[in-house]
Amino acid sequence: MTEVLELSPDEVRPERHDVFENQGIPLDAAVSPQIARLYSQAEIILADTAAPVGVLCEISRSDFAIVYRGEGRNEPNTPVGDIFELADRLALFTVTLGAETSAEIARRFDANDFALACMLDSAASVAADKTADLLERRYADSLRRGEWQRENGGVLRYSPGYCGWHISGQRKLFEFLRPEQIGVTLRDSFLMEPLKSVSGVIVAGPREIHNFPITYGFCKQCETRSCRQRLRALFAD
Ligand code: SF4
Repeated sequence: MTEVLELSPDEVRPERHDVFENQGIPLDAAVSPQIARLYSQAEIILADTAAPVGVLCEISRSDFAIVYRGEGRNEPNTPVGDIFELADRLALFTVTLGAETSAEIARRFDANDFALACMLDSAASVAADKTADLLERRYADSLRRGEWQRENGGVLRYSPGYCGWHISGQRKLFEFLRPEQIGVTLRDSFLMEPLKSVSGVIVAGPREIHNFPITYGFCKQCETRSCRQRLRALFAD
């Protein structure tokens, strides 16, 4: 069953330190009054324009195998490819902040207001990720309230375009989920429109399946190692 969830901008308001980190400003750095002012402006614009919404649909492992195979352009071995068969439940999802936020960012760039445009772009990226986190949490809560009673269960999301899952996988994901119903479409480049959107699969299963070794070929080029950060949060729960 497909479920559409409307969320409030307040629920996905980005944390200031996350936005600054996205801007490359270290956590302990002193921030100039000009940067602080830009942040405040971006925060107000985001609150006025964001209309976060998500769509979620559970999918069987056999159907997800088709989605995951996509256009056949994935790396031979990937975290998602290795763990989805071990999952108890899978759900495709897309979230978006809506068209108005992305349009406002574009307008600021067009007006050569680069400093504010960049700050708003960072704030919106963090908010889009928070929206995806919130959807992931809502799905996990609904599973735990229902039949999924696994002890030490872990629920994490993964997206095409990362960790060996080729971005062209978006096409099959869109065919199954139809995020057009929340106003998200796919460009020929496989980027989403509006840009501040996130899509992927939420994998629910034994927590250990998310603890894969980071020995895939592409991990050597990875600068963020973001999977380790997510894993620490999962095991801290
Ligand atoms: S190290 Fe980087 S590329 Fe490798 S699985 Fe983790 S996040 Fe993905």
